[in-house]
Amino acid sequence: MTADLVILNARLRPLFASPGTTAVAVTAGQIAALGDDATIRAHIGPQTRVIDAMGRELMPGFIESHLHLMMGGASLSMLNMGALFGFDTVQAGLRDFAKTQAGEDILFGYAVNYVIFGKDQRPDRHILDRIIKDRPLCLIATDLHCAWANTKALELAGILQGADLGPGSEVVMGPDGLASGELREFAAMNRVKMLSALRGRDAMDYRATGAETEADRSHDRAVIRAAGEYCARHGITRAVNMDGNAWQAGLMRELALAGEMPVRVSLPLMLEAKDGVEGVALIDDFGPEVPGWLSFGRIKLFMDGVFDTWTALTVTDYPDRPGFRSQPLIPLDLFNAICVEADRRGLQVTTHAVGDGAVRAVIDGYQAAQLANGPRDARHRVEHIDTITPADLDRLKPLGITASMQPVHPPGSAGLPLEPTVTIMGRARWPTAFPWAAILSRQVPLAFGTDWPVSPLSPLYAIHCALTRQPWSDDMPDQRITLDQCLAAYTTGGAFADFAETRAGRIAPGYDADLVLIDGQLEGLATSESAAAISLTICGGKITYGTV
Ligand SMILES: [Zn+2]
Repeated sequence: MTADLVILNARLRPLFASPGTTAVAVTAGQIAALGDDATIRAHIGPQTRVIDAMGRELMPGFIESHLHLMMGGASLSMLNMGALFGFDTVQAGLRDFAKTQAGEDILFGYAVNYVIFGKDQRPDRHILDRIIKDRPLCLIATDLHCAWANTKALELAGILQGADLGPGSEVVMGPDGLASGELREFAAMNRVKMLSALRGRDAMDYRATGAETEADRSHDRAVIRAAGEYCARHGITRAVNMDGNAWQAGLMRELALAGEMPVRVSLPLMLEAKDGVEGVALIDDFGPEVPGWLSFGRIKLFMDGVFDTWTALTVTDYPDRPGFRSQPLIPLDLFNAICVEADRRGLQVTTHAVGDGAVRAVIDGYQAAQLANGPRDARHRVEHIDTITPADLDRLKPLGITASMQPVHPPGSAGLPLEPTVTIMGRARWPTAFPWAAILSRQVPLAFGTDWPVSPLSPLYAIHCALTRQPWSDDMPDQRITLDQCLAAYTTGGAFADFAETRAGRIAPGYDADLVLIDGQLEGLATSESAAAISLTICGGKITYGTV
């Protein structure tokens, strides 16, 4: 049969194809055949588009297993502050940025490090006021769980005098009786995010009110589409968007049906304690899926926060706070009940767990679901696993749990400073922190992602970080994994975690024609982040990034 697209003269590593494979034929958005150039030339007809890979490496498109498309899309118009440190540098960066944002209601910086002003000066409204006083300004922490606002933003958001937000979130108060500017967790941060053009519609727990206008719809579709194009630029063909709600489901369906999504998306329903067990039924509001392009069937929960704000739930006390282990963001009996109900409905449960106590609680919940409903191929997921006890490491495989982890998250990687995280976490937790190698050695399915916009989106950069990770002390085990293991976590691993292993993550006949051509050498990522780059991204047989 004549192919729509043929790629010749490519290099495929043994992980993805048998020796001698240099060419691929694509028909109707799927892989039709692969083999050597001579074999695949037989598929070329008058209408076939032929790409000469010129010896470049061809591999399956990257599967990004944990990102936030709407927040990421929004971040494309924020200032990336990941590399800014020190008052003078930050001031110059923000003031230059402000000049480019004349019409915006509020200025946002993101990827802000906790030690941006030095290790003894946590950001607050006073220091931000010295930089920009007359316009609302909000800096979002690198982990997305904390933000700092200037006085103007706090006033406009109506929280300068503080706000009672219930458990888990906090408008931190200063010694003067007014808000300090630090906003911990989503409910607090959302009060300030409401000042932007998105009016909080990018919030994870957003529930459509019915008051949204057509202008809001097209604004938000453009945000998501820009995020999808940004994914394609980085070789990503499939992504799990970790903060789904019916609003996003509707927008993504419109984009997918119009053929305007450059990336396939899986969208879970994001639930919180306030939604209760009944909240699981909200997934029915998502409406129909778009086969191959948009899938639902998952719920997302948060068990805890992060170490930097002492909101990670731990098994043992925080070393700097005797007697303190934080608290779950959702009561454990309710979490278990939600897991049982979601599992009974055949949904996949995916839960953020950073502290070792949170990971344990999540495993307990998945175990409760299995006890209640019987074992099935559920593939419930734990997101992050920054820390885990050795005992719980051994519980993952028997319960069929999938690990979704981010090579760009360990302190000391991806430009993140070690402090304050590693000290707050406590040295006793270091040996099993971010334990990719330990997870793989126990045959636990592993999927990689970045949590973009928490961290940079590029899979190549994430792999560079994974390959170059350094232990924080001599007695800490090396958790580096091999290049092929990284690539697997970004392809077959991601496909398995997303129930897509029969159509994604491999180059084989009948699989989606989701492909990426690599410039340079992936092996070189072990020494340099610029050793390899994305040359061309193909999703469903269509070029979504690059030119030939
Ligand atoms: Zn996330």
